[in-house]
Amino acid sequence: MQYLLPCECGRRVPVATSQAGETVVCECGRSLTAPKLRELRQLEPHAVKETAPRRPVWSFRQGVMFVAGIVVLLISIVTLVITGMQRSSLYTEKPEFHPEFIEQQLAQIDRNSPVENLELWRHEILEHGLTRPGDPGYLLHRRAKRALTIRLIVFGVIAAAGAGLIAGAFLVRPREPRPA
Ligand SMILES: [Zn+2]
Repeated sequence: MQYLLPCECGRRVPVATSQAGETVVCECGRSLTAPKLRELRQLEPHAVKETAPRRPVWSFRQGVMFVAGIVVLLISIVTLVITGMQRSSLYTEKPEFHPEFIEQQLAQIDRNSPVENLELWRHEILEHGLTRPGDPGYLLHRRAKRALTIRLIVFGVIAAAGAGLIAGAFLVRPREPRPA
């Protein structure tokens, strides 16, 4: 904020509130002492000429593009992160039974009495059945992994589109107003 400090020459010197109490120089060359803040405020305020009203730097269309781009980008990044975590938690390798493990199991069966083996067999059949229904887990996981890979690609493209919208908002020039 500036106030007009009158000089003996008739000019008025704009003085900022930060200059209160300091020496200011008029265009005529006279040095003037700016009054203290309280008295300075009682002087006529210096109306700073408003420069021509600025057109908004961005058009409405650019704003929409930018906001839409941000939203699309954020949603797709969150989806990509979640999908990536889901995908990396899948076990798609066919489980390998170590030969030593199989040897141990066969040796155990040889040592067991027939009754023990009958119990073991009954237990296993009752618990799990001879075969599991459907595909083995690793095959199901492989299928799920393919679906998640496709989702990653799709959302990668969507994220790129969002980034493109944001970039476009910066590149599109606001339209010049037509002279009436
Ligand atoms: Zn003067």
